[in-house]
Amino acid sequence: MDKGSTHGHHPQPLPDVALRVKALEALLIDKGLIATDAVDKVAEAYEKDIGPLNGAKVVARAWVDPAYKGRLLKDATAAIAELGFSGMQGEHMVVVENTDKVHNMVVCTLCSCYPWPVLGLPPVWYKAPAYRSRAVIEPRAVLREFGLELDDTREIRVWDSSAELRYMVLPRRPAGTGGMSEQRLAKLVTRESMIGVAEANTPGKARKGA
Ligand code: FE
Repeated sequence: MDKGSTHGHHPQPLPDVALRVKALEALLIDKGLIATDAVDKVAEAYEKDIGPLNGAKVVARAWVDPAYKGRLLKDATAAIAELGFSGMQGEHMVVVENTDKVHNMVVCTLCSCYPWPVLGLPPVWYKAPAYRSRAVIEPRAVLREFGLELDDTREIRVWDSSAELRYMVLPRRPAGTGGMSEQRLAKLVTRESMIGVAEANTPGKARKGA
């Protein structure tokens, strides 16, 4: 299907990628292999629904609703499904809570297991051998490289995701967000904070990586 391009480690999407997708889509529809609305649905899901935005909604709900948070920590898969997020690579979810004493971070030492329904597709660094090995051996140093300097008194727990269990971090609610709506809170929740290599953003700081 893809003779013309050399899909190596290009940092940016190919400029003609949209045209290629359109051409492929037209071909498949023409051959009667797929229906137009099926293509639209998939494209829309990846654009709008699947991605760190789903996870951010889960976190914001947990911040404002203690009962929901309780359910989330007890049975994450079911609590996440309550908000309508479920499916492939998210069948067995565990959410771990950051506190003043404990900081959690997630890795897949074996490959790149990641909770797709809440976080979308994994970032490149998550799949890199350096992160996968060093997160376990020297988590504090790795976090420092991400710009997160943790107090020595704060214990770091590293969770190894697998095909059987996929972890997501519930970051701490930032200070100064007392009166904020759930929707505004969700904007403070970054993908990195749900992997555990960052804290959630404080108000006034724009969301990155979402
Ligand atoms: Fe994996």
